[in-house]
Amino acid sequence: MDNLIGLDKLELQSILAELGEKPFRAKQIWHLIYNQGKTDINDFTTLSKSLREKLSKHFTVKRPEIIKELTSTDKTRKWLLGFDDKRKVETVYIPEDDRGAVCISTQIGCAVGCTFCNTGSQKLERNLNTAEIVSQFMTARDSYGEWPSPIDETRYLSNIVVMGMGEPLHNLKNTIKALKILTDGDGIAISKRRITLSTSGITPHITTIAKEVGCKLALSLHAPNNEIRDHIMPINKKYPLEGVLDACKEYQKITGGRQYITFEYLMLKGINDKPEHAREIAKEIKKRKIGAKFNLIPFNPWSGCDYQTSPKSTIIKFSQILESEGFAAPIRVSKGQDIMAACGQLKSKNQ
Ligand code: SF4
Repeated sequence: MDNLIGLDKLELQSILAELGEKPFRAKQIWHLIYNQGKTDINDFTTLSKSLREKLSKHFTVKRPEIIKELTSTDKTRKWLLGFDDKRKVETVYIPEDDRGAVCISTQIGCAVGCTFCNTGSQKLERNLNTAEIVSQFMTARDSYGEWPSPIDETRYLSNIVVMGMGEPLHNLKNTIKALKILTDGDGIAISKRRITLSTSGITPHITTIAKEVGCKLALSLHAPNNEIRDHIMPINKKYPLEGVLDACKEYQKITGGRQYITFEYLMLKGINDKPEHAREIAKEIKKRKIGAKFNLIPFNPWSGCDYQTSPKSTIIKFSQILESEGFAAPIRVSKGQDIMAACGQLKSKNQ
């Protein structure tokens, strides 16, 4: 059986045409799936019984299987989700005071192979399809009962970060389609200003996201120059830093220059954390006049990885230098440590 989740409105219309139904029913079905959050076609009671029966013969509105759900003492919630082929991904909800972000994955494993990343050590198994990407967010909403889609700013699951397993720009088509569904005002209706896509820097596709989606961009920078970046992120040999930063500048131009680019910077002891590194990267960004902020991330060690996190005093100094260069550079507070919220860790443990 095929899943109705993940189809766009035109695809839904053509299915209805094949079933001998009027195209306007697509809007009703869209509303039931993405606004009401219905999980059973039999509950589509605004449709005729005969249409429900026709749909049920061929389709489902299936979510992934929840293999494990863990809630941290700091209220971070994490799901290990299983798909039809038994492959699994992680999805995490990271709460702030009265709202929070759902972190979704776009691939099972990852081909980028960042040397500090647990997911990168798991190799790419496959891309997730559109339904599998969208339904991660829907599963999180199910868990908090946040249906129908709230129409004001009271929503608890208010933001989406595409920062889970995988490189979204290596699964470009499905990622764009999923983000279009998630932002559609008739359904889940998360504003594109509340979505952040994080990439390791697949240069040719960065501006495609600006044009097609226009969400916020986070770049996994992690190094001040090609020499260090080549070493910790081998993808840099294919897409060197200069081109990645130029693409970030272009992204900002296309999206109207209002949104800051977030540069994610993992603090690795003795590797990328020296004061001259902070000055070097600040210079490169200022040269290009990129409106940017940093997010300094203390490294979260995992078994089998040799990196250590920089001492707190080193991170503070790094942050101060960036701030003196004119960039906000907060130090990220690690959440969900007790349930292993870092990238790929729950999946590794389960395996
Ligand atoms: S950090 Fe992101 S891009 Fe790099 S290996 Fe991990 S999942 Fe892939």
